[in-house]
Amino acid sequence: MPTTDTRITEKEELDIENAYQDMVAAVKASLDEVDKTNIRQAFVLAHDAHRQQRRKSGEPYIFHPIAVAKIVAEEVGLGATAIISALLHDVVEDTPIEQEEIDTLFGERIGLIVDGLTKLDGTYKHEHQQAENFKKVLSTLVQDVRVVLIKMADRLHNMRTIGSMPKHKQIKIGAETAYIYAPLAHRLGLYEIKTEFQDLCMKILNAEEYEDIETRLKETEEARNDYIDEFLQPLLTELNKSNVNYIAKSRTKSIYSIWNKIKNKGVDLSEIYDIFAVRIIIEPPRKEDEKKLCWEVYSIITDVYKPIAERLKDWVTTPKANGYESLHTTVVGPGGRFVEIQIRTSRMDEIAERGFAAHWKYKGQKLTTDHFGDWLDNVRDILENSNSNAIEFINDFKTNLFNEEVYVYTPMGDMKVMPKGATALDFAFNIHTDVGYHCTSIKVNGKLEPMGYVLQNGDKVDVVTRRNQKPSEAWLKYVITGKARSKIRSSMKEEKKKKGELAKEALVRKFKNLKVDFEESIEVLIKHYGLQSRPDLYYEIFLENIKLQDLSKTFDVVNGKLVKKIDEEELAEMKAKEQELEQREVATAELIHKTVEKRGKTNLVIDGQPADTFEYTFATCCNPLPGDQIFAYPVTNQGLKIHRLNCPNATQILANFGFRVISAGWNDDNISDFATTLRITGIDSGVGVIQAITDKLASELKIDIRSLNISGDQGTFTADLQIVVINKNHLNQVKKALLEMPQVSHVSRLES
Ligand code: MN
Repeated sequence: MPTTDTRITEKEELDIENAYQDMVAAVKASLDEVDKTNIRQAFVLAHDAHRQQRRKSGEPYIFHPIAVAKIVAEEVGLGATAIISALLHDVVEDTPIEQEEIDTLFGERIGLIVDGLTKLDGTYKHEHQQAENFKKVLSTLVQDVRVVLIKMADRLHNMRTIGSMPKHKQIKIGAETAYIYAPLAHRLGLYEIKTEFQDLCMKILNAEEYEDIETRLKETEEARNDYIDEFLQPLLTELNKSNVNYIAKSRTKSIYSIWNKIKNKGVDLSEIYDIFAVRIIIEPPRKEDEKKLCWEVYSIITDVYKPIAERLKDWVTTPKANGYESLHTTVVGPGGRFVEIQIRTSRMDEIAERGFAAHWKYKGQKLTTDHFGDWLDNVRDILENSNSNAIEFINDFKTNLFNEEVYVYTPMGDMKVMPKGATALDFAFNIHTDVGYHCTSIKVNGKLEPMGYVLQNGDKVDVVTRRNQKPSEAWLKYVITGKARSKIRSSMKEEKKKKGELAKEALVRKFKNLKVDFEESIEVLIKHYGLQSRPDLYYEIFLENIKLQDLSKTFDVVNGKLVKKIDEEELAEMKAKEQELEQREVATAELIHKTVEKRGKTNLVIDGQPADTFEYTFATCCNPLPGDQIFAYPVTNQGLKIHRLNCPNATQILANFGFRVISAGWNDDNISDFATTLRITGIDSGVGVIQAITDKLASELKIDIRSLNISGDQGTFTADLQIVVINKNHLNQVKKALLEMPQVSHVSRLES
């Protein structure tokens, strides 16, 4: 690219300086003169280093580090060290500046953070690069939490400005964010950032639904505000009579969380009562009064409105593992509508919004034995004991460290926080590796339970151990936590290795006897038996699945090499197989030809070209229809698979293998047929619901019905109906027509 393209204009220079000043003005932490000088120095260095680069949007690159520093300063609330690191976060990765230079200029701590933020270099460029990079970020998390906080800010700014990226990149980045960053933000208690991530991802991955909810929220905004006023009035009157210092806030929930409710409960937006929440934030005179005052406010509220007892949640007495503290209740407001109220102090509020960072501030520089500390210990454990590849690692990490939790107790009454879904055996490993290794049986609430028993809140768990007990492969099925999993895996590996050693010695002797080269012959054996590695081969020999004394029956020695014998029988078998394969290929070719003919001309476009030029099939997990947002993904030996962007499997695929994804879409007006399944629920009035539905579809709408399964329960029915439609628009017409029927209350498309 010619340098004239990248040269920064005077006007831009001015904008950059303004953006920088704007960032400095947004700093919440207190800065001394030295801090200010260092921040300026970092800015000057970064500005100079990135001088030749521009972002996809065309603006000079330096705007990005400044924006990241601003998020770090303003939204995360961190101080000088983090701000400087944020300004420098892309310098080592993208410019000629070396890591050593940063270390010398800004010291060891900032050097460490910047290094943590520098992506692994090209030597790791392979399938799991994304996972590897993420693993690196997490390893630095245990050294300095600011690395991951800055990484979050970096991702947040990239997501906010993602509009200038090509669509397929947006999808890839969006999926990765939904898969890893949003849950991590949640786990770190960065509530605001998590919510924004989720909304931004939804806007990319489920654009239609996002816009729909957004529009409808806008339409109902006025009515909602009126209602909130009506609701608050009597409440505030009572609160004002007390001497509690408070602020009342109300906010509409995020589009993503509303959408989740619609999906989970299978209801319409109009049926969701808790679209907004009211928050009472109190300012207690002393920290000791926090809990007492929260309950006092609760008492005032419930004098005015009747509470729903089951919906009381007390995270003031027992905070969530991500540090969240708050007292939640739902009351019956005017007109019988349910309203959620959150009661908390300003300190709790700050922790709730900014999580880890705020928590850190209140605890001082060191994380002591609090929930975050425990969690960090878990992260450290998984990292240190990780025998798995990076993708397995990320999956382990996700199930363990992002999930909701259950609270269980040791026989001594100590509380342990375990991820939801954790088993009794997970608990044993959580107590101590040795307890896990030697676990023979487990009592839950005094009763003997299997190792795979899923822990429930409040369980008292007692692990019985025996010295000579040890883990077996089967145990992997009984655990979900990364700690237990990795401990069992490494124990298995040890065991295999020990046993394999003996087998290896025997093999060396055998090869010596046969006078063949060890290195070469061992590869022949691994290949012949279809194994993965040498330890696997040794282990198979140990198990006597491969018998050394029989080697000469299978192999000849030719010129000091092992060569596979071929006998008549096998030769005949091979020939037969070849023939069969040939026939099958002919058959498949015919079949493909027929399908293509039958499918006719679709309007599918892959990578900008007509789909006919590719070998492709529609994924059966989501059965895309013309009009759906889709992507193509190559599968070994199966050509391209076309998935819906909102396919249940999409996030996982896109987050881990985003680099393989190929863009796909539809041209207008489709002319071919697609099958899809609708779930219809409604009221069974006793007079032929099936008849009514089939009449409507077959006679009135001329829709081809493939199958219909109906079941009823207490006057309601659920019907799964497979029909053939032309495209998504057509499907929407069918949905609408069905909803117009008096018997039908809901119609949804089945995901799989
Ligand atoms: Mn960046």
